[in-house]
Amino acid sequence: MQIPCTTREKELFDRVALAARQLGVPCYLIGGFVRDKLLNRNTKDMDIVCVGDGIALAHKVAALLDPSPKVNFFKTYGTAQIRHKDLEIEFVGARKESYRQHSRNPEVEPGSLEDDQLRRDFTINALAISLNEADFGALLDPFNGRKDMADKLIRTPLDPAQTFSDDPLRMMRAIRFASQLHFTIVPETLQAIRENADRIKIITQERITDELNKIMLSSKPSVGLDLLYQTGLLKIIFPQMVDLAGVEMQEGKGHKDNFYHTLQVIDNISRNTKDLWLRWAALLHDIGKPATKRFEEGHGWTFHGHDAVGGKMVPRIFARLKLPQHDKMKFVRKLVELHLRPISLTKENITDSAIRRLLFDAGDDLEALMLLCDADITSKNKAKVKRYLENFEMVRQRLKEVEESDRIRNWQPPITGEMIMEIFDLKPGRMVGDLKSAIREAILDGEIPNSYEAAYQYMLQKAKELDLTPVK
Ligand code: ATP
Repeated sequence: MQIPCTTREKELFDRVALAARQLGVPCYLIGGFVRDKLLNRNTKDMDIVCVGDGIALAHKVAALLDPSPKVNFFKTYGTAQIRHKDLEIEFVGARKESYRQHSRNPEVEPGSLEDDQLRRDFTINALAISLNEADFGALLDPFNGRKDMADKLIRTPLDPAQTFSDDPLRMMRAIRFASQLHFTIVPETLQAIRENADRIKIITQERITDELNKIMLSSKPSVGLDLLYQTGLLKIIFPQMVDLAGVEMQEGKGHKDNFYHTLQVIDNISRNTKDLWLRWAALLHDIGKPATKRFEEGHGWTFHGHDAVGGKMVPRIFARLKLPQHDKMKFVRKLVELHLRPISLTKENITDSAIRRLLFDAGDDLEALMLLCDADITSKNKAKVKRYLENFEMVRQRLKEVEESDRIRNWQPPITGEMIMEIFDLKPGRMVGDLKSAIREAILDGEIPNSYEAAYQYMLQKAKELDLTPVK
């Protein structure tokens, strides 16, 4: 076997080989599994292609396994899947594909192994391993995928323009693999992406976003994001990001390029978290900057309010990219809105109430917010970076102290809306909300202690100003 594999995998290959021999169909391991094994990457998804009926082979293999797994199959596509222990195995008959102009769904007919390898997107994805008696374990590599792997190159087996025009999703995949594997896209292939970028429009948003998220989850997402930008794909799939790019000069003063700053922030945060949504918060933290950019004479460039404006943009961006609309979106929005707050706490004479407010507003997402703030420091001046990090360390310390004395995180004021309605016999409405927030603000500002009695007295006083008398 020319790939490293576990005993469990070897046993399975023997079963597949036996089943194929019994049915008289040649069969091969192919695609991502072979690629990842050769690159020593973890993989549990196995693709098996046979010159014949993939569904029949899957049933035969299942019958030879103990316990015998259920076969899920799709007659229209000629594919079948089984699960064996921790392995997910997909079977398909080798096929030949031909494409029409307006669809990424090709005409399919049965073909040889070579036809099947030809329809694969990149040379590193077209490698096959024989599971046949005559040459069991041999690597079949018609496009020198092994060499491209050693040279860390992404290259299409056929004419790249045709490859991308046939199925434009492959452009996203090329960039995703470059980002995931730290590979380089060969110039000819990269040029074909630039020239065909516009065709990405025929791909569904879900599939585009799937690839985008894989780029976001790679160890250095800037690689993929910059390639998306350079090839023109980003302008089509995510124009708000492109609006961040560039530097404007006035009165000899420029501002930083917010696109490249953002890429650095996402790389920084990716060293400390694998959380996709925290990475999305890093990607979007400055998204409100283009809309708030002003030049103030004698002062320079400002982006006042970009945190709030950026926060408001998050729901629309998530909707357009078909990203989750509820908790994940709210988390990202909250972090974008709060990303400047810890910085404002590094100034001198910060009161306990300012600290308390951040604890209250950030709640359980405080650690995530502080990670974002650390990542947002992208100065090239080492002394500056050190000073900023030390400032944040001080903020963390203050947050800890106030948290320990006040326990304000996830805190709810001692008097609820229901209590207010009962005490004053009010129906739900503005008055209840006003009273409730007056109590909350007074506690957060340190005007009154965080106790029921103090809050009750304060409520009575506020109610008097509103001509309200308690009925209880
Ligand atoms: P990953 O498992 O990391 O998502 P993968 O490409 O290995 O990536 P699949 O998407 O399951 O996983 O694809 C399996 C194989 O099918 C690929 O290795 C490739 O040979 C082929 N393939 C997948 N998508 C395409 C495509 N759009 N065009 C051509 N070949 C493709």
